[in-house]
Amino acid sequence: MAETREFQAESKELLQLMINSIYSNKEIFLRELISNGSDAIDKYKYLELTSEGKVPSKNYEIWIDVDKKKRTLTISDNGIGMNKDELIQNLGTIAHSGSKEFLNKIKEAKEKNDLDIIGQFGVGFYSAFMVADSIEVYTKSVNDEKGYVFTSNGESSYTIDETNIESSGTKIVLHLRKNEGDENYDKYLENYELESLVKKYSDFVRYPIKMKVTEKVHKKDKDGKDIEDKYEDQEVIKTLNSMVPLWKKNKNEVSDDDLNAFYKANFTDFDDPLLSLNLNVEGLISFNSLLFIPSHIPYDLYSQNYEKGLKLFIKGIFIKEKAKELLPDYLKFVKGLVDTNDLTLNISREMLQEDPRLKKISETIENKLIAKLKDLKSSDYDKYLKFYSLYGDHLMYGIYSSYGFKKNLLADLLVFKSLNNEKEIDLKTYKDNMKKDQKYIYFATGKSIDSIKLLPEIEKYKNDGIDVLFFTKDIDEFAFSMMNEYEKIPFMNIATHDKDDLSDEEKSKLDVLEAENKELLDNIKESLGAKVDKVAVSTKLVDSPVCISTQNGLSLNMEKTINEVPGEERAKASKVLEINPNHDLFKAMSAFKNDKETIKKYSDVLYDEAMLLEGFEIEDKANFIKNLNELMLKSLKK
Ligand code: ADP
Repeated sequence: MAETREFQAESKELLQLMINSIYSNKEIFLRELISNGSDAIDKYKYLELTSEGKVPSKNYEIWIDVDKKKRTLTISDNGIGMNKDELIQNLGTIAHSGSKEFLNKIKEAKEKNDLDIIGQFGVGFYSAFMVADSIEVYTKSVNDEKGYVFTSNGESSYTIDETNIESSGTKIVLHLRKNEGDENYDKYLENYELESLVKKYSDFVRYPIKMKVTEKVHKKDKDGKDIEDKYEDQEVIKTLNSMVPLWKKNKNEVSDDDLNAFYKANFTDFDDPLLSLNLNVEGLISFNSLLFIPSHIPYDLYSQNYEKGLKLFIKGIFIKEKAKELLPDYLKFVKGLVDTNDLTLNISREMLQEDPRLKKISETIENKLIAKLKDLKSSDYDKYLKFYSLYGDHLMYGIYSSYGFKKNLLADLLVFKSLNNEKEIDLKTYKDNMKKDQKYIYFATGKSIDSIKLLPEIEKYKNDGIDVLFFTKDIDEFAFSMMNEYEKIPFMNIATHDKDDLSDEEKSKLDVLEAENKELLDNIKESLGAKVDKVAVSTKLVDSPVCISTQNGLSLNMEKTINEVPGEERAKASKVLEINPNHDLFKAMSAFKNDKETIKKYSDVLYDEAMLLEGFEIEDKANFIKNLNELMLKSLKK
């Protein structure tokens, strides 16, 4: 008895999008179905190799069959197949993790009319509904006696029924849509079209993709010789793909176009990768690897379900979709595969994780990728900047999460906008352009370049022509705190209350100023109470009256970031209110130094002002407004 079931709500939505043909590139359905077939054979083959003879060997094949009269296109594989639960789970719901996100992105893309973005998602099985108005899936799992047929016309429900199937595998019958306007679906019944689609998208599939084709052959005479100019039709079985895995080919024979096509077909992206790397490593451990950096951030990179890793093959046999041991965390955006002959096939997946040889491969891959990025930086800086805008944070994270251990490997890859440069510069360039007596590499942090430029403490650097690196991401400062220095030159946040970079002359001048203003400074400190740990004369301010700096190595931004993490021990920065002794405001305030009430109002407003410019909210808004209004009234009354 056929059983009717409803598609999961999200599946319905996705199906609707497919049916209403959101996407011009319908032909990719074939690639998706072939790739599912190839995955299913991979899984079967893995079972065969690890079952000690219990799962029999097969001639692994994918078939494409056409029936022009019935207008059906059929794709079959003799892979692992699905049992009933798997059918429901895999085809009745969106199998992908993060499916909500996936749908949302599609809807967003639709609104923006940016449909090509959809290519970056594995649209998978449902893409077949772009060309078919009903589909039957005949399947039998290697672990089940029974076979099943799933039928759907892509509307709200599907049916499942038992059926007899001899051997494990899956057969998908597509009833093609009728031609409509410009849309020609009949072409998917033509051998020529199917052959060229397989060549285009699935040439490197490692199992033969076979199809019966009719070829014109010479008629033969009675001796079996070709008769010139006489032909007849003959049905032959043709393997459409070349099957040689790209990574096994001689490097000289693999073009960038080949790599791009391979990437797009195997990592479900519509765009060429930003960078690809074809590695052929011989040594203590030998392996081939293809590595790709996507030209846009993978849509799910920041979702919790994102899994990093490379596809792992051993002796050309697929073992694992995402071997996470092959990539350090900070390179999790890299896609690709590794094939090695140096591991044994019958090693269990758990044992594999522990295998030190994987770690060795991972280290080699990391070094080669970093070297390739360094090459890119010197050969095509603009392209490198594109890379950096997408993944620069991850390099910073690499430094931070290794506690600075990777600083030598990665420091030369870091680039920053800066006070003196519109375009990003690296640390070497900064160092080469330092002033004669400059002791530090200075940096400033803020939410945006514009807000950094507004920092009062940057005024002195502007005046003196000293460059300051701009950090707009939280991770930047944390990574720098792990690095400490670049080629022996220490880093310094300009919002640090520090006198080390002053000359002796400047220091003694400062001492005099602090002594002269002691009473005012003390009064301000007293009125601000625990809000600040110190009030001091500033050496950095030119036009602004005040700024906030910190003095225990923890900046305000770091304090804020650490305290955002739930459960983390509260961090506390030691704040210093720096005042500009040359500002008229302080000269005027000095006259009130004994009027504690007035000093308190001014101090509170100045503190709030300084915090605002540092990018923070005013803590006690009511008090701020009250103070401001009173001070305005006072000045108006005069
Ligand atoms: P994806 O392949 O990206 O996971 P699909 O929607 O194409 O998404 O397929 C969902 C799931 O259905 C697959 O992960 C797989 O488990 C199963 N599946 C699809 N096609 C086949 C097939 N030919 N043989 C066995 N299982 C399949």
